[in-house]
Amino acid sequence: MEQKQTINFGAGPAKLPQSVLLQAQKELLNYSGIGISVLEMSHRSSDFNKILNKTESLLRELLNIPDNYKVMFLQGGGSGQFSGVPLNLIGLKKDRCADYLVTGTWSAKAAKEAEKYGKVNIVHPKLDSYTKIPDPSSWTLNPSASYVYYCCNETVHGVEYNFIPETNGVVLVSDMSSNFLSRPVDVSKFGLIFAGAQKNVGCAGVTVVIVREELLGHALKECPIVLDYKVQAEMNSLYNTPPCFSIYIMGLVLEWIKNNGGSAAMETLNKQKSSMIYDIINASDGFYVCPVDVACRSHMNVPFRVGKKEGDESLEKEFLEGASKRGMISLKGHRSVGGIRASLYNAVTLEDTEALAAYMKEFLKEHQ
Ligand code: PLP
Repeated sequence: MEQKQTINFGAGPAKLPQSVLLQAQKELLNYSGIGISVLEMSHRSSDFNKILNKTESLLRELLNIPDNYKVMFLQGGGSGQFSGVPLNLIGLKKDRCADYLVTGTWSAKAAKEAEKYGKVNIVHPKLDSYTKIPDPSSWTLNPSASYVYYCCNETVHGVEYNFIPETNGVVLVSDMSSNFLSRPVDVSKFGLIFAGAQKNVGCAGVTVVIVREELLGHALKECPIVLDYKVQAEMNSLYNTPPCFSIYIMGLVLEWIKNNGGSAAMETLNKQKSSMIYDIINASDGFYVCPVDVACRSHMNVPFRVGKKEGDESLEKEFLEGASKRGMISLKGHRSVGGIRASLYNAVTLEDTEALAAYMKEFLKEHQ
């Protein structure tokens, strides 16, 4: 029986390029002819060192990371970095204060975590709903803050910054977990960028941290050693056992990104895919509703309701069932917001997106 193709629109862990999975499968039992799997390899071996160095140099090349930045591959996920960032950076200035932009679930969680270690200032009036980015003219930044933090793409709400916040010289920190390498970024504008791999650059287990060297060495004394950037940077992410297999998979995905034109090509494709879905929403005369301001609609996660503004739950259930019958999975919106969410990360192809677009048009025609 012919196997039905499954298209994964999940928000993460998310779809990986087919060629990456095939290569990992081919190499699983015998990596590069050495007779063992990467899963069994010592993290101190020269073979693993080559994997680690290759992954780092690909990342440096793809993001044009300046030489005065360190790259680390850590465990603990994006959530680990919600603690890692304040533990390492809030002590940069004596006030132990940090500015946070809270535009969705993930930045809200990060701000809450940071409150354990210092003063947190939310720089804009509290939002009633996470559907917009407050105009920078309404922000009150604190010049004595140790850093300014924002989440570049709010995965749950589909809110994405298409600009880099201006901080008047204060260190800028960004969580790029869900739009990392989906578009070019000028790393030199940031003190620190972190990203969990399981959306655009690999599988769960590894989180990339890119940090300007001069910011190392200011960790609070309570900082767990595995989260101490100075220690991990000096030891090339090998203070303790790193997530070896996840780093290897990231290396394969970075190679795939490079072979497919790098971050600029990813951006072109991601804009094309997301526009395809937003165009259908916009032309649906209120049948599909995306609550997010047009100016900050995410190219990665497209959330929408079906039937009416607040969503017709029975229609949404029917939509998801129909999608599933067509092999399209993981389209359910995050449990905190409901509705539908289509995640269109790098590995989601134009053809995958076209299949979703065709289904949305068909469903609209049937129900409008
Ligand atoms: N930041 C963003 C933007 C995310 O989307 C997520 C998870 O989806 C996290 C942080 C938390 O990542 P983790 O589950 O790896 O801790």
